[in-house]
Amino acid sequence: MIKKAVFIDRDGTINVDKGYINHEDLFELIPSVAQAIRQLNKNNFLVFIVSNQSGLARGFFSQEVLDKVHQRMNRLLSQKNAHYDALYYCPHHPDGMIEEFRKDCDCRKPKTGLFKKALKDFDFDIKNSFMVGDKPSDIEFGKRCGLKTIMVLTGYGKGEFIYRRHNWKVKPDYIADDLLSAVELILFLTK
Ligand SMILES: [Mg+2]
Repeated sequence: MIKKAVFIDRDGTINVDKGYINHEDLFELIPSVAQAIRQLNKNNFLVFIVSNQSGLARGFFSQEVLDKVHQRMNRLLSQKNAHYDALYYCPHHPDGMIEEFRKDCDCRKPKTGLFKKALKDFDFDIKNSFMVGDKPSDIEFGKRCGLKTIMVLTGYGKGEFIYRRHNWKVKPDYIADDLLSAVELILFLTK
């Protein structure tokens, strides 16, 4: 049977958002994120992390540091028996100072390039798949891709929901306290 997928934003959804992470030691998982991803693994979902990392284009951190951050993310999750199937990130920004990444690309969320990469690499049931993130751009991305969308109240989510929801161009299908609540909702909805 074709698998369902959950696309998950990184900063503010998986890890505590501290702005640009310029050293791997700054990377800290939000509590219960490993448990949430483990639940998805157990229930046979594909798990994709989709992340805008324009700090590369802006010269705030190097590829080497970003790779180390992702190694640490891997390690912290696998220590708790959680894993993701693929990580897709966009290194670009149109005003970046690093030439190789200065680009008006098609992969910076809410554009759908990262989704298209996943679609190339894996087979999954789009209509029963989800996008979870803490920003309106994550929700817009999910909608453009034909995914069901959940906004979490970690990261920028709380402030977005309390103070800015009247300005949202696109509304999420659901709102959840954090990734674990979002996953519980996903498991309920897809039973
Ligand atoms: Mg985020």
